Amino acid sequence: MMASDSLPVAAQVPAASAAEETLLACPDCDLLQRLPPLPPHHAASCARCQAPLCRHKPDSLERTLALALAAAILLLIANVVPMLGLSVAGREAFTTVLGGVVEMWREGSQVVAMLVLFAAVIAPALEIVCLLLVVLAVRHPPAPHWVATLLHGYEFVREWSMIEIMLLGVLVALIKIAELATVIPGLALFVLGSLVFLLAAMAAAFDPRVAWQRIEWAAGRGPDGIAGGRG
Ligand SMILES: [Zn+2]
Repeated sequence: MMASDSLPVAAQVPAASAAEETLLACPDCDLLQRLPPLPPHHAASCARCQAPLCRHKPDSLERTLALALAAAILLLIANVVPMLGLSVAGREAFTTVLGGVVEMWREGSQVVAMLVLFAAVIAPALEIVCLLLVVLAVRHPPAPHWVATLLHGYEFVREWSMIEIMLLGVLVALIKIAELATVIPGLALFVLGSLVFLLAAMAAAFDPRVAWQRIEWAAGRGPDGIAGGRG
């Protein structure tokens, strides 16, 4: 069972008009239920299986926009400043994230190089750009239909964005290399560490239901107020 401010859909908040209610499918048991507007910081759970349905996130769009802009700046910095430096016998060499990818490609690990490039650079960049475009587009409803495609794309690239996994790998390698050479942590390492938390905060602040509700649908077809259960 959820926190004390979480109530089954059928038994919470004052009665809302049909226009204000959203038809929502439970992500666990598929039960369709009408959800009235939630008061701030309240959550709703499924009337049948108690699975969490959604949580009210105050100022979701503004918070997401601010966090996404900050994440975009950090990602840019993380990819242009050095990530790691090695010092052996008085000689120093630094590399960036992309420099590491190029080096892996040259050493014959093309598959790993492509995976690192996609999971640590391309996917986080697409994740941020998708969300920025969605938030900017839905700020003035009705939002165009292509926002729906972006929302699907955002869910896909979010699962492939794995900066934290790369950082973990780098830290393990650092410990092994430390016996052979002096390792100099670069600025990008700290920026990427901050980015992991920023991306998590950005995803937590974003309420997909708000975006879905503001998309303009073609006449005669549309969501009929149905929002995805994942919100
Ligand atoms: Zn359910």
